[in-house]
Amino acid sequence: MQQKRTELSELGEFGLINRLKTYLPAQNYHANTITGIGDDCAVLDNGGDEYTLITTDILAENIHFDLAYTPLVHLGYKAVIVNLSDIVAMNGTPQQITVSVALSNRFSVEAIEEFYKGIKIACENYKVDLVGGDTTSSKSGFFISITAIGKVKKDKIVYRNGAKIGDIVCVTGDLGGAFLGLKLLSWEKEVFLANPEMQPELTGKEYPLQRQLRPEARLDMVLEWGNLGVKPTAMLDISDGLASEILHICEQSQVGAFILEENLPIDTEVFNTAVEHNLPPITCAMNGGEDYELLCTFSPQDFDKIRKKMPDLTAIGVIKEKELGAILQTNSKEQVKITAQGWKHF
Ligand code: ADP
Ligand code: MG
Repeated sequence: MQQKRTELSELGEFGLINRLKTYLPAQNYHANTITGIGDDCAVLDNGGDEYTLITTDILAENIHFDLAYTPLVHLGYKAVIVNLSDIVAMNGTPQQITVSVALSNRFSVEAIEEFYKGIKIACENYKVDLVGGDTTSSKSGFFISITAIGKVKKDKIVYRNGAKIGDIVCVTGDLGGAFLGLKLLSWEKEVFLANPEMQPELTGKEYPLQRQLRPEARLDMVLEWGNLGVKPTAMLDISDGLASEILHICEQSQVGAFILEENLPIDTEVFNTAVEHNLPPITCAMNGGEDYELLCTFSPQDFDKIRKKMPDLTAIGVIKEKELGAILQTNSKEQVKITAQGWKHF
């Protein structure tokens, strides 16, 4: 009998992870395992008043980055940031990382040193210790796997599943810049490949390029609302685009969400450059990804305490009943269902 073959593309990333969950050991063997798969970090309780947070991410050449337009120093920085961002998304503070790399002989020692310079700068900026890793060769391509370890006070931890009806949905910073930056870089690469004499036209586009090449983890926000004595009811970081992250909160918190397009924070330079290139800014924000901002929900009481004090936090909507689903009200007052890839009209 022929074995059934399922294409990975049929399941997609989230479908595959869900399917692999059925192969988890039938039980947790250790009482200190608090939560495993499904949030931004795994949570361990090693006693005391803090949890330990652990997260890991792979970056693969030509999937997550293109060395034609990614300076290695920025790549090192970003590889650390994407992991710190997941610790921050649990309302935690990152403390250590391990760094593993697979390299082909295409790379020189100096190139790897450049990459490590970026890692060092990120560690210094976020006061994180580099405590180990692994180095191996690769037949083709550069692979980076970083694990970050952090901590959070037990009563301060925030999961994806705590959003309640009536909570205010917020995002930090602005959205869509990283995706636009990636588009600009890949367009310039095409132009260059077609005609190597052409010089890149990237002046005046520094902000989206910086958002793509050198993102930050919003530890500053977590510290700020911590100092103001509040914490979100649910949170995750925006790595895949706002639409997909809203759906994660709705699914895991068993709620719906009503989001207003007019409230979405999009930088003016990003907005204008996107329009110039016939790219709807809303698509960059909803379906772009890699902004590494935080999507979080606050009780109305907590939101009142911080709304005037945190200008970099924007209310974009409200949590509703599960039955409503996740809805985006566009500027033309049309209500569209939010889906992970684009959004479908009713
Ligand atoms: P994020 O975007 O926050 O990094 P992911 O979407 O990569 O999160 O992963 C979602 C959840 O699935 C996380 O809890 C992660 O630990 C888990 N996960 C992802 N891939 C695997 C895998 N191959 N095996 C086990 N768990 C996985
Ligand atoms: Mg995450």
